[in-house]
Amino acid sequence: MKEPKLLFCCLGLLFTAGLLSGCGGREEKTTIMLDAGHDPTWPGTQAEISEEAYTLQLAQTVGTVLEESGRYEVTYTRTEEESLPVAERVRKIDEEKPDLVLSFHGDAIGSGDDRSQICILADVPQSPQHEASLQAAQALRQAFTQDDQVPFTGYLYYVPLRNETYQIQLVSSEDTAVHEEETLDLMSASVPVAQISLIRPDSAADREAWAGEAGMQDAADRILNGLDQFCASRSPSPTPGS
Ligand SMILES: [Zn+2]
Repeated sequence: MKEPKLLFCCLGLLFTAGLLSGCGGREEKTTIMLDAGHDPTWPGTQAEISEEAYTLQLAQTVGTVLEESGRYEVTYTRTEEESLPVAERVRKIDEEKPDLVLSFHGDAIGSGDDRSQICILADVPQSPQHEASLQAAQALRQAFTQDDQVPFTGYLYYVPLRNETYQIQLVSSEDTAVHEEETLDLMSASVPVAQISLIRPDSAADREAWAGEAGMQDAADRILNGLDQFCASRSPSPTPGS
């Protein structure tokens, strides 16, 4: 299995969304699993802040906001600085089967040369989780869209190079062509996953804007808004398997 850290290590995580059972009018709360990208052995970008620590703090802030809304039940892949390989995260997700998984990163890779753009990744078009994952990604894009910032939404593919290295290719969410290449390992979970990479804090101003208390709270509020939109867009789920 390829090592996601090889090139742009940062994209790694998953944010998965589950099946909508809790959405669209069901009485049960929607279950969201929050995945803080990276860990001490794979710390991600070390810019003005450590990405590993940033995602952990963001996941906790988002979790608090979601629970306080009364509409979501929140679980986490990791809640401390523990080593947690992607395969282990997928195992946890598949055990719990949340309605949706949201994976956080702090290294927006953007599209093209624009590294300041928020990047939201969905599961690829040929995946059974594609539709719900993409709906979650699109709802989050809407929630994070501002006058000077429109998040990129799309898919990530690993294009094999020599010696087991891979090049990352980002494709717009409108490009539904089937690629042979693989995508993020986290997307192999049995429930929908969406991954959001927020801006990488490269400067003290970035750090304050994104990793300061107000910045974290703003991101959490937008994520709550995006999830509410996601749920509203899903009709009550039909009886599975019938
Ligand atoms: Zn990352």
